[in-house]
Amino acid sequence: MTKSAELPPLSNTLVDPFGRKVDYLRLSVTDRCNLRCTYCMAEDMTFLPRQQILSLEELRDVASAFVELGVRKIRLTGGEPLIRRDIIKLVSAISALPFLDEVTMTTNGMLLPKMAQPLKDAGMNRLNISVDSLRPDRFKALTRLGDLDVWHKGIRAAKTANFTKLKLNAVILSGFNDDEVLDLARYAIDNQMDITFIEEMPLGEISSHKRVNTQITSQALRDQLETEFELTDSVETTGGPSRYVRVAGSDSKIGFISPMSNNFCDSCNRVRMTAEGRLLLCLGNEQSMDLRAVMRSHPGDSALLRSKIVQALQDKPERHEFDPNRTDIVRFMNMTGG
Ligand code: SAM
Ligand code: SF4
Repeated sequence: MTKSAELPPLSNTLVDPFGRKVDYLRLSVTDRCNLRCTYCMAEDMTFLPRQQILSLEELRDVASAFVELGVRKIRLTGGEPLIRRDIIKLVSAISALPFLDEVTMTTNGMLLPKMAQPLKDAGMNRLNISVDSLRPDRFKALTRLGDLDVWHKGIRAAKTANFTKLKLNAVILSGFNDDEVLDLARYAIDNQMDITFIEEMPLGEISSHKRVNTQITSQALRDQLETEFELTDSVETTGGPSRYVRVAGSDSKIGFISPMSNNFCDSCNRVRMTAEGRLLLCLGNEQSMDLRAVMRSHPGDSALLRSKIVQALQDKPERHEFDPNRTDIVRFMNMTGG
């Protein structure tokens, strides 16, 4: 039985003007990263000054306010969440919140060799680990700073720590790694993991490639996968935007996140907090509310914080419109919180 089974009747509070209930928060704990993936960041990035980033206490207070308003799942992200000092303390604090069903994390895996076990001990049960190539040279080229050996060590540490579920995330770019879709899926299946393939979104101005040239649809990836695997549509969900298929003869699921080719906004159940405390109501729009200003002008006023969140939700846009020819959203994904 999940913790939310005993919930008081607060859980309908976060409903947007389109009748969508928000029960999922993606909380960015830093905009910094130990990698510079080409599709995510420019090579030369300027990061936020530390005093602009939410403190650990502020992050906990935001998480608590959302949980009191009915949020049942929180994903910690960034930037790279594991480089945030005291991240383990934050995971412990958030996982102890009453009524929260799940705290998860998206990580590039580089720090998992030493942090997988402490994360598990702090109350995290599932992890999403990003990987866009299983070839050392290509991994290095795509991440600019990454080392595939370290990534593999991280995976071994996560397996040893016995997470309930490990899921891989791969952004596929035509001409860069679209020839590795089958290898990535095989790796996930052979290692009893799920894998989600993500379409590249035009978030932030990058110089490494023109995004319009690297687009490839989830359907094209599925066609590739079906040359080797028998796939059946599944109605399973992990509360996020992935559409899943089951792979015959295996326990693994393959997911597709298709923000470019198959808008999933109708069922959107989530909002994001940037590391500087801006509540972003949609990944592909700029409507937001500065919750850091609320918390710093009225420290400890949790009722005000909750009422501001409810108010902000009234501005949640109906949908995103991405055009790979244009960078309408200048905010990079490390700012947005993936
Ligand atoms: N650093 C962590 C990581 O890489 O897993 C967490 C943050 S990262 C921004 C979260 C996810 O967003 C990663 O899976 C990454 O591949 C994905 N991502 C980054 N930029 C993207 C873009 N422009 N389009 C689609 N996905 C992107
Ligand atoms: Fe860092 Fe994740 Fe962005 Fe890569 S995708 S640069 S690991 S935040």
